[in-house]
Amino acid sequence: MNRRDFFTASALAAVGLAGLRVAPVKAAGSAGTGLVAAREFQIGDAKVTALSDGFLPIDASALIGIDAEGFAALLADAYLPGPTHPTGVNAFLVDHGGRLTLIDAGTGTAFGDGLGHLVSTMTTLGLDPAAVDAVCATHLHPDHIGGILTETGNPFANATLHVNEADLAFWGDADIKSKAPAEFQGFFDMATGAVAAFGDRLMPFTGESDLGAGLTAMPLPGHTPGHTGFMLSSGDDTLLFFGDIVHVGPVQFPRPEVTIGFDVDTEMAAATRARVFDMASADRLRIAGAHVSFPGVGFVEAESEGYRFVPQSWQYG
Ligand SMILES: [Zn+2]
Repeated sequence: MNRRDFFTASALAAVGLAGLRVAPVKAAGSAGTGLVAAREFQIGDAKVTALSDGFLPIDASALIGIDAEGFAALLADAYLPGPTHPTGVNAFLVDHGGRLTLIDAGTGTAFGDGLGHLVSTMTTLGLDPAAVDAVCATHLHPDHIGGILTETGNPFANATLHVNEADLAFWGDADIKSKAPAEFQGFFDMATGAVAAFGDRLMPFTGESDLGAGLTAMPLPGHTPGHTGFMLSSGDDTLLFFGDIVHVGPVQFPRPEVTIGFDVDTEMAAATRARVFDMASADRLRIAGAHVSFPGVGFVEAESEGYRFVPQSWQYG
């Protein structure tokens, strides 16, 4: 499916909102438990805090290239129940180089009560959203920028927004929007609304760009035209925040050719995932995924067929 076919493809229309229409569910770390889903670790001199926004149940119908039976079998291989997989929505706060950078901004109220915990989690931890200096959006889908749009305004009120030009162009294109089905109009409205919330503090980038504070933008197109990873480097240590390279870990690590209906260009998304997995496994590169099970940080190991995810061990001290 190419970009132009995106909104006319019946496959996408069929799985699109079916996958996103979620019943309100209680997320780990939701109010009342006294616990929050957060994990802090070091990358060189950088302090990184993984923050859970909640989770989104995804079943086989949202994916392309695998049937319900195959999906269930891979979940069983990973000792997980089916028939749905609780796909995490993670954001990451990076304290490095004198700057507080938030990688993605959660869903806000876009998808019901199961999600939208990012800001309350930050507040519980004593992290003031208004102290965030920069928001780096891997792309402009609602589960990455929805948290910017609250009834009381942008919680990241003093931050700059860094986003790839190609995503700004796509989601801001009135012509593409006019051809999109009614149920996708909200995606465009949220993208443009979130960007507008930063006013003149919008800082678009193109291609591979140095964003300062040890962060480099790395284009990973396919899921959206401007989908981007952010490479954090500090000392000899690196971490690639790879955004939406993976949506259902137990399925797509072993079967990277399986795509999700939300990919604007499924072929390119699969090719990009293959390239990222190849690089991450060859270089023993640490990755952090927006939808890899919380905290979503670890390594990608090549198997005789496909890959497996090796979660980062707890850091003591
Ligand atoms: Zn996403």
